[in-house]
Amino acid sequence: MIPKTHPRYHSLVIREKLIEYFEKGIVAKAGLIAHGRGEAFDYLIGEETIEPAMKAIRAAACALLLAKRPVISVNGNAVTLAGEWIIKLSEVVNAKIEVNLFYRTRERLKSIESVLRSLGAKEVLGIDEEYQATIPELMSERRRVDSRGILISDVVLVPLEDGDRTEALRRMGKTVIAIDLNPLSRTARAASITIVDNIVRAMPKLFDEASKLKSSPRDELLSILRSYDNNAVLSEVLNYIANRLKRMAESS
Ligand code: ATP
Ligand code: MG
Repeated sequence: MIPKTHPRYHSLVIREKLIEYFEKGIVAKAGLIAHGRGEAFDYLIGEETIEPAMKAIRAAACALLLAKRPVISVNGNAVTLAGEWIIKLSEVVNAKIEVNLFYRTRERLKSIESVLRSLGAKEVLGIDEEYQATIPELMSERRRVDSRGILISDVVLVPLEDGDRTEALRRMGKTVIAIDLNPLSRTARAASITIVDNIVRAMPKLFDEASKLKSSPRDELLSILRSYDNNAVLSEVLNYIANRLKRMAESS
């Protein structure tokens, strides 16, 4: 048991959960390493949702609400850290949920599916071999997608996705929304909308924004989306980190 008074209580609880889900076969080994990479960047932004991330969250909510066929792509880390929010968001924006794994095994697919179903998901794509399609150009297991989901989607939310797949999805003409704490990753650079925030904080906020904006007129959503500039937002993130570190260096 981690004492609640521990200064890094939340972060430790999250680590414990990842380890538990790793032992259950839901999180991949590389998922644990990826989480460590994410934590390092979370320190740099101050472990809070910063304004440029809020801008990206608002634009992402608009893109999902305007989409004809939105899909939320799920991997082991995402389901562990934000499972219930994935379901809630999928309901509010009418998105399909598709399991997509970098380290794809039948067992892991089934385990993730059962977690999603236990949280209330009615349909989970990416499992049934019958509907398997492939992303052109990508090699390996990573190219598999569901012919009812990502293949025909227009907007895909990819929390914690790999750079190669993000780039491939963009080449297929999809709007890709990434949640990635590393503003320098290829995923962050290649996505249409990059939310530089911890998935644990970003998903509830994305759900809130989508719920609030759901009743807004289409024109208003379109205008928020059109005025969004991902390169500018990524620059704001880097400036935020640079200024924060500078202030910290000066005061120490
Ligand atoms: P890329 O392939 O995009 O260049 P990478 O190879 O470093 O990046 P991947 O393992 O492909 O990383 O993707 C995982 C990404 O998820 C990392 O960039 C990491 O910073 C990020 N990440 C890890 N944990 C979290 C989290 N809890 N919230 C948000 N992002 C996270
Ligand atoms: Mg990668």
